[in-house]
Amino acid sequence: MSSASQSPADPSAQQLRTRPDLESLPAYVAGRTVPGAVKLASNETPQGPLPSVARAIAEAAAEVNRYPDMVSTALTERLSRELDVPTERITVGCGSVALCQQLVQAMCAPGEEVVYAWRSFEAYPIATQIANAAAAPVPLDENHTHDLDAMLAAITPATRLVFVCNPNNPTGTVVRREALTRFLDAVPPHVLVVLDEAYREFVTDDDVPDGVELARHYPNVLVLRTFSKAYGLAGLRVGYGVGPAEVITALRKVYVPFSTNALAQRAAIASLDAADELMERCRAIVAERARVVAELRDAGFEVPETQANFLWLPLRERTGEFTEHALEHKVVVRGYAPDGVRVTIGEPAENDMLIAAARAFPLG
Ligand SMILES: *Cc1c(COP(=O)(O)O)cnc(C)c1O
Repeated sequence: MSSASQSPADPSAQQLRTRPDLESLPAYVAGRTVPGAVKLASNETPQGPLPSVARAIAEAAAEVNRYPDMVSTALTERLSRELDVPTERITVGCGSVALCQQLVQAMCAPGEEVVYAWRSFEAYPIATQIANAAAAPVPLDENHTHDLDAMLAAITPATRLVFVCNPNNPTGTVVRREALTRFLDAVPPHVLVVLDEAYREFVTDDDVPDGVELARHYPNVLVLRTFSKAYGLAGLRVGYGVGPAEVITALRKVYVPFSTNALAQRAAIASLDAADELMERCRAIVAERARVVAELRDAGFEVPETQANFLWLPLRERTGEFTEHALEHKVVVRGYAPDGVRVTIGEPAENDMLIAAARAFPLG
């Protein structure tokens, strides 16, 4: 470096230097909230917290002068009993999106590779780049589903981690038992397969395997779940991972201290106490899902089979046009140009607005 560039008189020397590669980092785009419009853009559950959960949050709020339990002891023990998995194999995080980031940090040295399907959850490429790992995205197949054979072929000696999002966000499609176990049997044992089951509670197809069961049999499988979707706690930020003890230990090392707050920990336990009521809500969403899919197909849309609380409209180059059209009808949906539009299943009246908007959209 020349002495001139170090001179305080040189403006370029006075500029703060953030990582240049962050310029190319895609920002995580949250679903928009538009006043006066219904929001079907973030895969949230439409109802507010149950009274019992709101009470637990209020009780925990009385103690926020204290730091939260760093390792979420009570919630981890509760999950251990619920899932019949030892506590050493469970970790709680500030939403499962934080666990995605911790996973890449914990598994990958700079330049080591992460395989994931694309299009899938937008946090995977971001977490990969933030950790200086290398992304190996593998296109979905023609049915908007993970192409597990192609993902297997994308594994190299540098691969440390594979994300399999099941059901897949944003397409709602699933990988079933036979295909997934064949894949797991073939993945090298030193590569961690992360089954992201953020939407597990909405799955009604018995042929979609339970990731926690797979994690009992495969020592290189880790499952991610969240309280944000079916349990209705998106605003509190709490999720968990179930997997190999040595990976759980490594995840705890890259945890941002105290990031899972006390309200979230208490609300998660209260939600597990109220699981029956909350799963009843999920069943109502699933019934609405069938109705909305049928209506949209009847209106002429291609709608892949979905097992989540949202559906996918592969509108390709008309993606932006549809999201704007829906907004004019007071419905906020989530466009992923140039691939398609993701629509969350909401309350029946909200879904009716979406259906009316879709029926008014001129399909070519
Ligand atoms: C919503 C979502 C998550 C996690 O959300 P958190 O609120 O961070 O727990 C994880 N994976 C997928 C695929 C999701 O859609």
